[in-house]
Amino acid sequence: MNPTSEGRGERLGVAESLWPSEPIILGPEVSARQLVLKKIQELSTSGHQHAFMVADLDVLASRHRTFLQALPRVQPFYAVKCNSSPRVLLVLAALGTGFDCASQGELEQVLGLGVDPSRIIFANPCKAVSHIQYAARCGVQLLTFDNEEELIKLARHYPGARLVLRIQIQDSQSTFPLHTKFGAHLEACGHLLQVARELGLAVVGASFHVGSDCHTPQSYRQAIADCHCVFEMGCKAGHQMSILDLGGGFPGIEGSEAKFEEMARVINAALAQFFPEGTGVKVIAEPGRFYAASVCTAAVNIIAKKSSLEPGGHRKLAYYLNEGYYGVFRVFLRDPVPRTPIVVKEFPSEPCLFPCTLYGPTCDAFDRLFSTEVQLPELDVDDWLIFPDMGAYSSTMSSTFNGFPITAVYDAMSPQLRSLLETVP
Ligand code: PLP
Repeated sequence: MNPTSEGRGERLGVAESLWPSEPIILGPEVSARQLVLKKIQELSTSGHQHAFMVADLDVLASRHRTFLQALPRVQPFYAVKCNSSPRVLLVLAALGTGFDCASQGELEQVLGLGVDPSRIIFANPCKAVSHIQYAARCGVQLLTFDNEEELIKLARHYPGARLVLRIQIQDSQSTFPLHTKFGAHLEACGHLLQVARELGLAVVGASFHVGSDCHTPQSYRQAIADCHCVFEMGCKAGHQMSILDLGGGFPGIEGSEAKFEEMARVINAALAQFFPEGTGVKVIAEPGRFYAASVCTAAVNIIAKKSSLEPGGHRKLAYYLNEGYYGVFRVFLRDPVPRTPIVVKEFPSEPCLFPCTLYGPTCDAFDRLFSTEVQLPELDVDDWLIFPDMGAYSSTMSSTFNGFPITAVYDAMSPQLRSLLETVP
């Protein structure tokens, strides 16, 4: 089932066949990129130039292989918040990953696939009581915390939980830092571990998050060293510390492979130093964008255009797209460097480039893709732009603000992956 396409055919007057609920099977003659171009052609011919995404689900399998090869001691618990499409989760469940859930909704989604509760960590340090109670009812035992109030809630509503203490670390060099909101200071950890003990709660490990889209491998090293201190404090307080959770933060877009490999080298060395093999510590991580980013490609259409002359006579262009900040491009505004899209148009010769502002379709002036301009050729209304690496934090952050529908996603996979899914009970 493709939830984002449900009912759209009828509502938008698009031929039903354009919104298939079955996955599209890729083969040697149809790659995901070719599929995007084919869909663009189909939509242009039908006169319904809606934005869409193609999800190449085989990418998940290759990302999984790469992750396990680079970090052989680390079990991935995929961060559902990054891309919670049912087929993405189904493929990952079939591949055998664990899952990091942030809410009751995500727990329900993953448990609904038949995933065993032992393969889930409820990794939101500040949870609603009703969500804690739900985890307790379903037997999801691993939960994170970073403050005393949370311990009091857990002692009352889930005394049998196995708790992981999330620590605060320096993550200001990541594109999306998280330290102001989550993580206990190292100096506060001794007290929290003691309080947990007094409340009869079991703390079984420590976790951190280096910030999403981390640029500094050394952040992991420092955090692993800090967790080593927390393990010592935990043991001193009488806890049996056995789980180290490296969180997320691994880069995911094309071209970031070298950065990931460097991170893996630093992590493996830090693990060998602070948590050597044979000490019985299970190491897990919560990668999101590493798995999902390169799964999806978005295709968007220019619905309006403006041209202006700057004081020096330079031309500037503004393209209004049928997808924007309130749709799948929510995270773009925080990207330090704008991503230049692929232009789907043939030019007789190398075209001139102009500084272009890319706006989304709503009436909010804030609705633009990047805070700076991108260099693009002169394009026309109805022309298409393609954005690769759109699988992370895109659909999950979309809204229908101003009445614009959620962008449809076409799931695509190889016959081999299809067969693998068919063997899953
Ligand atoms: N784990 C937690 C607790 C998070 O908050 C996030 C993202 O915000 C992730 C994992 C996934 O991070 P990333 O997508 O950078 O791997």
